[in-house]
Amino acid sequence: MHVLLHAAQEPVFGLAMKQELARHGYRIGPGTLYPLLHGLERSGLLKSVSHRAGGRMRRFYRITPRGRKALLAARAKVDELHHELHEEHPRRIAGGQ
Ligand SMILES: [Zn+2]
Repeated sequence: MHVLLHAAQEPVFGLAMKQELARHGYRIGPGTLYPLLHGLERSGLLKSVSHRAGGRMRRFYRITPRGRKALLAARAKVDELHHELHEEHPRRIAGGQ
């Protein structure tokens, strides 16, 4: 979801994404990040293009319309959880008194 969020703002590439995730406290290596990006692309949520940046080829990922839909759906779920986390009296669900 984090990757989709940033890819919705601008085309992202692996290294920038790795640094952004590190900023949030996620230490994620290339062996995890690249399969994740490829998986999102295979699922049709991201689309990559290669172009030259600073003298080297770089693969940039941008979000697809399908990715935007998935991001909105995920956001609704996270909002719901967020509300419940901040409720003073979360609903009791076990039927006890
Ligand atoms: Zn971020």
